[in-house]
Amino acid sequence: MLAITCPNCGERNSNEFRYGGDASIVRPSHEDPSEEAWFRYVYIRDNPKGPHREYWQHVGGCRGWLIIERNTSNHVVLGVRRAGECR
Ligand SMILES: [Zn+2]
Repeated sequence: MLAITCPNCGERNSNEFRYGGDASIVRPSHEDPSEEAWFRYVYIRDNPKGPHREYWQHVGGCRGWLIIERNTSNHVVLGVRRAGECR
């Protein structure tokens, strides 16, 4: 069992959470006319091995959005915080 400690609900089984995407991607400004920047934002994703920041939603609990830092090579959760908190 992979356990995730939700800041609102405490330690819960990972099956209560849904992956929401890569949290390291920064959306280009609306004023940015660069097609390359928008193409990379929409379509290009890395597949990192090691620590990685990800959005997850606690769908089986508080429904809050979280940023989880997880080591993708061994699934160890390195940190969890609410998505609205400072980066
Ligand atoms: Zn929660």
